[in-house]
Amino acid sequence: MKFAFFDTKPYDKPSFDKYGKESGFCFKYFETKLNEDTVELAHGFDGVCVFVNDTVNAAVIDKLYEMGVKVVALRCAGFNNVDLKHAEGKVRVVRVPAYSPYAVAEHTMALLLTSVRRIHKAYIRTRDFNFSLSGMTGFDLHGKTVGVIGTGRIGRVFIDICRGFGMNVLAFDKFPARDLEGREGVKYVDIDTLFERSDIISLHCPLTEDTYHIIDEDSLAKCKKGVVILNTSRGALVDAEALLSAIKSRKVGAACLDVYEEEADFFFEDFSGHIIEDDILARLISMPNVIVSSHQAFLTEEALSNIAETTVANISQIFRDGECENEITHK
Ligand code: NAD
Repeated sequence: MKFAFFDTKPYDKPSFDKYGKESGFCFKYFETKLNEDTVELAHGFDGVCVFVNDTVNAAVIDKLYEMGVKVVALRCAGFNNVDLKHAEGKVRVVRVPAYSPYAVAEHTMALLLTSVRRIHKAYIRTRDFNFSLSGMTGFDLHGKTVGVIGTGRIGRVFIDICRGFGMNVLAFDKFPARDLEGREGVKYVDIDTLFERSDIISLHCPLTEDTYHIIDEDSLAKCKKGVVILNTSRGALVDAEALLSAIKSRKVGAACLDVYEEEADFFFEDFSGHIIEDDILARLISMPNVIVSSHQAFLTEEALSNIAETTVANISQIFRDGECENEITHK
């Protein structure tokens, strides 16, 4: 079996080579992303392996189908970049629903702590032998209220971490988890109550029509002054322009973003020495109270290994058994 692997980075190869070899799969690694212009590269392959910023729209699916490519293996959990409806009957789509919720939840807390305790500032200062503490005052997380939107695998681990810090949790989910209801320190509320009462808001829901720009001008207007916004889920959950305005007006006290709506143009690549054309991203990054990491929350050794193991198992199941528990369809 031959698979065309798109948007390859050096850290992807060791684990995919290991698990691929064990199962008799051959991965051909392409650095380019999959899109209408690059889909021809998949010619002669049984499947493609793609990541969060590859494009699997109707045009790409039609071309894959025409070329006899049978499987699109997502090496991630989110699948908002795939036109699942169009894929039906043409290509099978599999994903890795969970690889390490700890990786993403721990990164979220790392960003929050860095921001509220000004670690990013301290790191730069002390490297220049500047030991002044002016402007470094943070606040305790203990006793603060964190609003968690999306209480699935990652949201729940993040809730556990926050509870460990002595924070109170307000949760919102379209499908609340029974076992979380009534847990000490955790309360499901409606979305407006979450906006109104949270000191910190963390997004852990998928990107869907319902959740697109869930953080926008209207929702930010409902928030407490000084609210901290954390997004390690998907960029388009936040209207970046509205967030920037709310930061400028001091309504938002800080923002930590591992994802950005227009990240596909920039993230995972080195743009140092270039002029960034995206004024909103450039302005956000220039803010002292904004921390941006480039979709890095998943990037731990454990997660990379789990991603490769599950992807190879998904492909094996589809080709060997004709079915796979991690297949996704539009229904
Ligand atoms: P999950 O499916 O386990 O949990 C998602 C939760 O969101 C579910 O409980 C679901 O009911 C809830 N939800 C669905 N629609 C909702 C809505 N309209 N409003 C509120 N809640 C809603 O997913 P997960 O594994 O916890 O991952 C969450 C998200 O994290 C993924 O969708 C993905 O976008 C993102 N993610 C980011 C990275 C990264 O590296 N930054 C890595 C993995 C996943």
